[in-house]
Amino acid sequence: MTIEEMAEKIAAGDRRALARAITLVESGRADHREQAAELLEALKGTGRQAIRVGLSGTPGVGKSTFIESFGCMLTGKGLKVAVLAVDPSSTRSGGSILGDKTRMERLSRDPKAFIRPSPSQSQLGGVARRTREAIALCEAAGFDVVLIETVGVGQSETMVAEMADIFVLLLAPAGGDELQGVKRGIMEMADLILVNKADGDLKPAATRTCADYAGALKLLRKRPQDPQGFPKATMVSALEEAGLEKAWDEMMALIEWRRENGFFEGTRAQQARFWFGEEVRRAMLARLETEAARKALSELGDAVAEGEITPARAAQTVLKRVNEG
Ligand code: GDP
Repeated sequence: MTIEEMAEKIAAGDRRALARAITLVESGRADHREQAAELLEALKGTGRQAIRVGLSGTPGVGKSTFIESFGCMLTGKGLKVAVLAVDPSSTRSGGSILGDKTRMERLSRDPKAFIRPSPSQSQLGGVARRTREAIALCEAAGFDVVLIETVGVGQSETMVAEMADIFVLLLAPAGGDELQGVKRGIMEMADLILVNKADGDLKPAATRTCADYAGALKLLRKRPQDPQGFPKATMVSALEEAGLEKAWDEMMALIEWRRENGFFEGTRAQQARFWFGEEVRRAMLARLETEAARKALSELGDAVAEGEITPARAAQTVLKRVNEG
């Protein structure tokens, strides 16, 4: 299949072509990178936009259960839903934990849904690019909503927030009245906090947790991209499929407000600029990873340690060589 044919098929919504294209963008081979770039450029013309929803939560809060029921609710409305996953921890096991189709049985059989597990990658930067490109492919293929799931490991949440239109934090009801040790930085990224498992015996605890978070969110500094009442905390039960419509309505209300007030496109533009900078920084750092650069670093490091050369002069020498190389 030529890149042109692949682009045509993706634009026509062909899922096999989409899956192949995602495999292509996940490849690190230089010729594949070039083809991927060509493909993404060819697809830019479709001008399609999905709503990109980042979803984070620690293992066990119910992410897969939520994606399954939320995703099915959306497809039930006639929307096409793609699910991507960012799971830096999967590199350790070599396999993928998130996006596992067996965890989302109903959704994975749904013809309006497309589920793609996390690529196994050693570098978060590599995962970021691949995920962004996969999002672009799903948009070009005509998906209305792209859910990007992540566990709260390392920088993965920040990364997902930087590629999403809205960032949703999924929490479980807390036993006590303490705020589950959710890092402030993550709270600050959230547009919507969903307290899951608001059902049965857990309902009272969920209600308390939700009130605690609603209170905590009010104390955060107001961001210009938030309308009155946002960021917000609300309850859901992924298991009993309760509160899902409300969660979707909240997301849509936020998106609409941001669209009307220029923050939707504004944020996307800012994100594009951010990722451009990241790509450059990553490529520069990669230059220090070559055999020759490592050797130079090690040798000059020895010389610096011995006091034969100043750290500043040694650094200059390395940078000069890297820039020339
Ligand atoms: P993940 O690790 O975040 O993907 O969490 P899972 O979706 O695998 O769910 C972890 C556990 O929580 C499973 O035993 C689910 O059945 C349970 N669970 C998920 N959502 C709900 C819910 O809304 N209510 C209750 N009571 N249990 C839930």
